[in-house]
Amino acid sequence: MDFLRTSLLDLVTLVRSGQTSPSDIFDAYRARIERYNPELRAYTTLRDKPETFAGADTPFAGVPYAVKDLYLEKGIRTTASSRMLEHFIAPYESTVTTRIMAAGASNLGKVTLDEFAMGGSGEKSALDIAKNPWDTERIAGGSSSGSAVAVAAGLAPFALGTDTGGSLRQPGSMCGVVGFKPTYGRNSRSGIIAMASSLDTPGTITRTVRDAAYIYGITAGHDPMDSTSRTESTAINATIWDRDRLDGMRVGIPKEYFIDGMDAGVRREIDAAIAKLADLGAEIVPVSLPNTEYCLAVYYIVMAAEVSTNLARYDGIRYGHAADTGMDIALNRSGGFGAEPKRRIMMGSFVLSAGFYDAYYRKASLIRELVRNDFRQAFEQVDVIATPVAPTVAWRFGATGDDPVKMYLEDVFTVPASLAGLPALSLPVGYALPTDGGTVEMPVGLQIIGPQLGEEKVFSVAHVLEMATIGKRRVPIDFEE
Ligand code: GLN
Repeated sequence: MDFLRTSLLDLVTLVRSGQTSPSDIFDAYRARIERYNPELRAYTTLRDKPETFAGADTPFAGVPYAVKDLYLEKGIRTTASSRMLEHFIAPYESTVTTRIMAAGASNLGKVTLDEFAMGGSGEKSALDIAKNPWDTERIAGGSSSGSAVAVAAGLAPFALGTDTGGSLRQPGSMCGVVGFKPTYGRNSRSGIIAMASSLDTPGTITRTVRDAAYIYGITAGHDPMDSTSRTESTAINATIWDRDRLDGMRVGIPKEYFIDGMDAGVRREIDAAIAKLADLGAEIVPVSLPNTEYCLAVYYIVMAAEVSTNLARYDGIRYGHAADTGMDIALNRSGGFGAEPKRRIMMGSFVLSAGFYDAYYRKASLIRELVRNDFRQAFEQVDVIATPVAPTVAWRFGATGDDPVKMYLEDVFTVPASLAGLPALSLPVGYALPTDGGTVEMPVGLQIIGPQLGEEKVFSVAHVLEMATIGKRRVPIDFEE
């Protein structure tokens, strides 16, 4: 089997036509995991092979998948890649994994992430630090690093992840696979360890746009267990898959996203992708999102405030890492959390503290509303917005050094859609040499952002572009059988 090119839907078709069985597929992925995971470090916990597999008539036909180690799975170790939860066994099951299981998929195991999903490289994991299969001296992108590596290296046909400020789109882009987050509230947050609750959005890493839409069709939809869950229909019109042109589609290009500091190679590939959209019949419309320059600051205030609140529960007494002294909460917390969560808890406590609240948190919340408005106005003129996913390709391990701000700057193009709760997808569109002297061309992703509840438009544009450029797609050849 061609693990680096076979999609989830290809596998479903193979099972349904009797050419292979879910059990054989599971074994084949397991064998690849055993062979490559010691180097790539995508998986943290492997699941046992199921005794029985779902039938071919179920939506997933028994096909396997990987889960970001932030989703609670009943009876399974769930670590958030933190020492704090290194030995935590989840007492219940997340809504999204419940729906995936009920639809007949088979669980391969849990994949690594930046600790508590805080990071953009995968380097901030306290357990496994996943490597980029295109060049194993480079980061995978984060925080859903293991999810992207598992799919890119053919260690899973699809993976679940979460995106709070870019965590599916960035690793998707850096590993050359599709990262997708729906509108905030479409996929339930119930049973997923919270980072920043007003931003956290469960989603997927897949090989194709159509796979992303297929999984979305199963996971999305109202869940009474999540008070921010949306109730609107999630149906996607099946005729979008027959389109091969974009006539009548208006694609907005926001001028604020084409800034200095973007690598020339990334710029070249993004420009080429936009030119391709025009060739395919789309109308390219310059738009403006004037508050873009404030988005990073707003995100790092709002996110940190919510992180400090959400992480207050880890005291090592009810659960979580307990130092030898047991009841000393301060000691438990300082031993359990790594540097990045600690930094964000401190930033968050600061921006929420009396005397600073108005200057930071309140102001950030007000600007967040302006950002939402920018998008609302832009979407009066266009169907979707296209931008780069990140200003650079994947960097070498350690390249951002001890300067957290260097890593935060990589989030500049992904956090605006998160602040506005919009659906967004990263599509592999090209390859560029890193500017640090690296000799391997690394994947570049185009971000396609839709209006609130506009998943269908995102899939539609992304699918047409994907079909028109699929011949250019490459695979990380070191992991070819
Ligand atoms: N890189 C961003 C951060 O560090 C986004 C993380 C995420 O989406 N979980 O906060």
